[in-house]
Amino acid sequence: MIASTQTSPPRAVAPPEKAVLLNPGPVNVHSQVRDALAYPDVCHREPESIELLTRAREKATLVCGGDDAHTSVLLSGSGTAALEAALSSIVAPDGKILVLDNGNYGERIHRIVAAHGIAGMRLEFGWTTPIDVDAVDAALTADPAITHVGMVHHETSTGMLNPLREIGAVVAKHGRSLVVDAISSVGSEDFDMRLDNVDWCVGTANKCLEGLPGISFVCAPRAALDALADVPPRTFYLDLHGHYVAQDKDKAPLFTPAMQVLYAFDAALDIALREGVSARAARYGRLAEQVRAGFTQRGLRFLLPADQRANSVTHLHVPDGITYEELHDGLKAAGFVIYGVQKRLGAVFRVANMGQLDEQHIAEFFAAFDRVLDGAGASV
Ligand SMILES: *Cc1c(COP(=O)(O)O)cnc(C)c1O
Repeated sequence: MIASTQTSPPRAVAPPEKAVLLNPGPVNVHSQVRDALAYPDVCHREPESIELLTRAREKATLVCGGDDAHTSVLLSGSGTAALEAALSSIVAPDGKILVLDNGNYGERIHRIVAAHGIAGMRLEFGWTTPIDVDAVDAALTADPAITHVGMVHHETSTGMLNPLREIGAVVAKHGRSLVVDAISSVGSEDFDMRLDNVDWCVGTANKCLEGLPGISFVCAPRAALDALADVPPRTFYLDLHGHYVAQDKDKAPLFTPAMQVLYAFDAALDIALREGVSARAARYGRLAEQVRAGFTQRGLRFLLPADQRANSVTHLHVPDGITYEELHDGLKAAGFVIYGVQKRLGAVFRVANMGQLDEQHIAEFFAAFDRVLDGAGASV
């Protein structure tokens, strides 16, 4: 059985007319992205559909910092679909993957690997504990059978940004292959396929790339994708090599893509590339600063020290005198959707600042936050 990872069951509160989404994806999107959903009905095997697919693949590669040697394969499905496509497809039968786990999504990599019966070794650091890069180095020295290393860039469950560049350098030094869940970092954190020595990058449409849910992707060097011809597929639907050959060589999607969501993703990628990854990182960074300054001023306690946080999500302990559910429901009634955490982290809530948000949204959020706390008689 696949256990749910979310603490709080959905609350019976009707969605507001227009909610400000402060959950870590899906996000509030640009009107051009939503409008793209209304593109005329299309057949996925017509030339205009193939052109769209090719265009979106090229743009996804660009946001990952890939060059002409790289390409992307698009999958219809949420981020986990692309993650499972990559993990189940890249490790040869005699290969072995070292999984770096310091949160819910590190654990997810381990569980996907285990579900496919792939040989793996899991280094558990503990939730909210930074990855020990020396331990990774030592594990690779000790076990030459390890062919791949899997890690999460932004561990969204705790909000921790893992040291990708250092780990990438260690993995490259040992000549192993690095697969990165960059689902909540690509588009808004410093991430570069080449500089970070990433062999396989997994991303999704509906987080920092500000598209709608339903499309995810894997970016990789073409040579590595070509070499997958020698690895027997472990799944039929998520066979990464099969999708690559179909999209890149045969110029026809393997199965029916979520075409309308793909149009929306293409529009979102245009906006992301126009804004630029570093400008978006700066925008998210400013909003995160505003969120953090507001909570510091109100005396809330943070889950992580400042230097470990990514720039799109902030985790806070729920203040005394109010429960998470009361806080969530009060804010939702005011038009703001915050997010819970996995049970093991205790009474903690998340405020994300992904998507089409500005300073005004955050200022209004804090006004609502103060009203909800006042109404509950809670103090910080
Ligand atoms: C959101 C997320 C995922 C994927 O979740 P989906 O619900 O499948 O989109 C995977 N890894 C990380 C780090 C995430 O933040």
